[in-house]
Amino acid sequence: MNCKHTPMAKKKNRPEPESLELPMVGVDSHAHLDLDDFDEDRDALIARATASGISQIVNVFLGPDAYERNKGLFDDHPHISFLLGEHPNNADRLTDDSLTRMRDHLTADPRLKGVGEIGLDYYWERVDHDIQKNAFIRQLTLAQELSLPVVIHSRDANAETLAVLLDQGFKDYPVLWHCFGADLEFAEALLDNGWHISIPGPLTYRKTDDLQAAVARIPLDRLLIETDCPFLTPEPWRGKRNHPALTAFTAKRIGEIKGRSITDIWQITGDNARRFFNL
Ligand SMILES: [Zn+2]
Repeated sequence: MNCKHTPMAKKKNRPEPESLELPMVGVDSHAHLDLDDFDEDRDALIARATASGISQIVNVFLGPDAYERNKGLFDDHPHISFLLGEHPNNADRLTDDSLTRMRDHLTADPRLKGVGEIGLDYYWERVDHDIQKNAFIRQLTLAQELSLPVVIHSRDANAETLAVLLDQGFKDYPVLWHCFGADLEFAEALLDNGWHISIPGPLTYRKTDDLQAAVARIPLDRLLIETDCPFLTPEPWRGKRNHPALTAFTAKRIGEIKGRSITDIWQITGDNARRFFNL
């Protein structure tokens, strides 16, 4: 529809994800759809994700309270799987009791596919580094006991996070580095340990040369795509709330960087997510 004489004309520069006509094989490997940001239109956005070629979504619950309170939101959406972990910014909430509840849930609920997001966050400085590190290690140990993959959050703490993982024996363990934003040298350190890397929307932003150079070199069989919604919205929707369908624009950018079709990227990153999480 040509509407250039209407006030909606500006929208012409913001294609809807459905317009990319992707096959239904993509995976958003990291979403926070249980947050109240989505209370008004959660089901509608889940339907839009399906219409945009998303076959599965991994929803990340930030601790056992969130899981217990909100897992029912997804009763009608069996293609959404779950992760559960105490985020480093809430590491002071981890207690013997909450860890026991996490173990019980991870054991009982087949929709829970891994432990995360866990790690270190030295950007917000909300919790003491020692407390963060202790909670990180306890949850890593839990994942090992249950033989579950781990999903890592690391902000302004990459070297420290890497050191903890290696100290705890996670070389060649199923580790996914969520929201990767570092350079090629760091990507290679992760790849050398056999780990996977998940790419968020900021890849589509200008002035991310180091990240783009890293993505150019990361082997396709180690790449996943995520929204981290409602945060980190890719172009051309930057500035709006993020949601899973917009993963398509990150896939498009990866295709441009790697010289592959968006459909190939969509299929391969989707397959990687299915394999990694056993979806
Ligand atoms: Zn997250």
